[in-house]
Amino acid sequence: MKILILNSGSSSIKCQYFINQKSVAFVVVEEITKINSISTIKYNEHTIQNNSFIANHEEALDMIFTLLLESELLVDINQVDAIGHRIVHGGSKFSEPLLIETQSLKELEEISYLAPLHNPHNLKAIKIFRDKYPTIAQVAVFDTAFHQSIPEYASLYALPSEVSQKFAIKRYGFHGTSHFYVAKQSAKILQKELTELNLITLHLGNGASATAIKGGKSIDTSMGFTPLDGLIMGTRSGDIDPAIVKFLMKNDNKSIEDINTILNEKSGLTGICGSSDMRQITTQAQSGDTQSQLALDMYSYRIKKYIGAYSMALGRVDAIVFTAGVGENSAKVREMVCEGLEESLGIKIDKEKNNTLQGYAIDDKSSKVAILVIPTNEELEIAVQTQKIIEEC
Ligand code: ADP
Repeated sequence: MKILILNSGSSSIKCQYFINQKSVAFVVVEEITKINSISTIKYNEHTIQNNSFIANHEEALDMIFTLLLESELLVDINQVDAIGHRIVHGGSKFSEPLLIETQSLKELEEISYLAPLHNPHNLKAIKIFRDKYPTIAQVAVFDTAFHQSIPEYASLYALPSEVSQKFAIKRYGFHGTSHFYVAKQSAKILQKELTELNLITLHLGNGASATAIKGGKSIDTSMGFTPLDGLIMGTRSGDIDPAIVKFLMKNDNKSIEDINTILNEKSGLTGICGSSDMRQITTQAQSGDTQSQLALDMYSYRIKKYIGAYSMALGRVDAIVFTAGVGENSAKVREMVCEGLEESLGIKIDKEKNNTLQGYAIDDKSSKVAILVIPTNEELEIAVQTQKIIEEC
């Protein structure tokens, strides 16, 4: 089966082409509407770039097809069996992937207000395809879907009920496709059924979130109504006292937009030490830079707190799973996160295994909890879910 996976943003569209669940090409169109538009395709050993100006999303999608046709991996667009779209927000309604039809498109439009920076661009791509290639099936796979199983007592904020209900305010959680993918991989690695496993999965990329997974279902996650909540991230603060917002507006003469920019773009690791790149932060901390060391300490401590909280929520933890850019690559962060968790939670890392990463497991023989490092693959998971829906139709 030939499936294209699309991740459409405001200024870029990323596309991965899968044949029988194997990725064969990656195409990205960046700086859409800007003079320096750039389109790149990577397949086999080839990397080909095109600098034509891309005026809008329709032209970007045309460019993606042009590059795929030129690569000869695709002979005719109608050969594509389905397009799977990564959709950031599925609201309360969508806990499963969705086959796009006229009614479902309307429902998707209705929840767009929940992720105004993301969902409208995802929808734009869906509509362009529908108009141009009405016979190609399209499937929406939501970042929030996996977390729909979180019970109300964990997903609701303690706001007045009428306010929560009126605006559908609750913990939606994000990165669901990644948490679910690494959970399934963990079950394979541990040779257990996913339904028997309790896991804490740590997706540590530029955005970062922790999820408590009980018997294969998300029961709590650190991102909330928006991706700003929870762990310290590259540029986002994660948990803060909400009263800081009013304090800054009053005392630092900031508008609500200023605060939004500070919390989403100027905080987190960047706010603490000036960099969001964990490689740079680790190197600088080693050379004695105190702010970088503080950033590392704060980052790891926040994750540790979530491990503690989720251990209690789960009752029993079978594995801690590290994934995404930092989780997969930073031995230092993994070591700092696990440090001191042996006595309380029986979590003990093997430093040698952690540094050399020769398999997935980095736990010490005496650890009561497995510690795994598993590369995430959100696009593959979207392809798998898209194929499943198409086969069921
Ligand atoms: P995104 O959320 O954008 O998909 P990624 O999962 O690619 O992000 O993660 C990006 C983060 O991974 C950056 O903070 C980067 O510094 C970090 N990272 C990538 N490679 C390494 C490495 N070798 N060591 C430490 N951190 C790394």
